[in-house]
Amino acid sequence: GTPYMVWSCVPLPSSSIPPQISEAFQKKVQNKIKDLLQQMEEGLKTADPHDFSTYTGWTGIALLYLQLHRVTCEASHLQRALDYVKRTLRILNGRKVTFLCGDAGPLAVAAVVHHRLKNQTESQECLTKLLQLQRGVVSTDSEMPDELLYGRAGYLYALLYVNKEIGPDTVDETTIARVVTAILESGKNMAKEEKKAEKCPLLYEWHKKQYVGAAHGLAGIYCMLMQPSAKVNQEVLSELVRPSVDYVRHKKFRSGNYPSSLSNETDRLVHWCHGAPGVVHMLIMAHKVFKDEKYLKDAVECGEVIWQRGLLRKGYGICHGTAGNAYSFLTLYQLTQEKKYLYRACKFAEWCLDYGTHGCRIPDRPYSLFEGMAGAIHYLSDLTQPESSCFPAFEL
Ligand SMILES: [Zn+2]
Repeated sequence: GTPYMVWSCVPLPSSSIPPQISEAFQKKVQNKIKDLLQQMEEGLKTADPHDFSTYTGWTGIALLYLQLHRVTCEASHLQRALDYVKRTLRILNGRKVTFLCGDAGPLAVAAVVHHRLKNQTESQECLTKLLQLQRGVVSTDSEMPDELLYGRAGYLYALLYVNKEIGPDTVDETTIARVVTAILESGKNMAKEEKKAEKCPLLYEWHKKQYVGAAHGLAGIYCMLMQPSAKVNQEVLSELVRPSVDYVRHKKFRSGNYPSSLSNETDRLVHWCHGAPGVVHMLIMAHKVFKDEKYLKDAVECGEVIWQRGLLRKGYGICHGTAGNAYSFLTLYQLTQEKKYLYRACKFAEWCLDYGTHGCRIPDRPYSLFEGMAGAIHYLSDLTQPESSCFPAFEL
């Protein structure tokens, strides 16, 4: 069968869309958040005690509570976030460096939680440890990949995250520049090796495959390089990043979707990790940075593919689930202010409100941020304030 559900409702024309989310719907969403939170807490009692990651472990749960604190200002959420980050700090293992899967995630999130609680000493301790991880990241002869889940771009995200949440100079410009340079050098070398420097000046692979999507591929890496706070200079952006983004654009399927890797010709996956729901964020960043309508046009096309094929049998999560796909509508809404996208975001949220009733596959870590319930709750809470929504561990 197809990996996605066929949407059974007839999409309404944009003229019939109410100007904002109705109070009744807001209420429904808020009640569901409470209900799901309870289920999540219950389910987490049997979760892997050693998984500290943002992706499937305790840092992801801490990040969800930080988000709930941001949206509701309830102090109990911040306290919960603290409980979870404390747990993570005891079990770090120094094996990986990224925000999503490595030590940088717990350290960055703990620094932010302690900062919010005005525990400056503890916050600073976490930042110091976070910065100590850079040695392995910037060394050019290391085996370190560049993608978001396990590579340099995932460490860069952690630095930009603390600068956004704590203050713009929390991590100094020199450190950020060093990490950016390592990512650029690695991409230039790979492009040269593969004799693609003309077409795609920044090329990356993970496990010997040139992935396209946000999690393991080019789109995720280019997204980080285009972040204004990464301070990549204009010349590098226009001469290296822009042609590389255009190279990915040209890999678009006729449907408007994108392949999972450069060597893959099958138009199948519509996930944040592989396909249009991840690539759309790269296109939107490119539109903001290069001010060219063609990027917006492709992003809008991604929005259509996600609307048609984005309700996934894989579940409700963020990485390869309905909530992650729904974030693309919120991002498109923020950019265009078109109500159509808010409507679509609500329709995907409706799907999440019926959590567990569609016969979807149950993920391995069913309560986690990137695979499971915590991700759906994160999305629902962002929908209550769509103007300030932010895809966790990815958008800034
Ligand atoms: Zn995934």
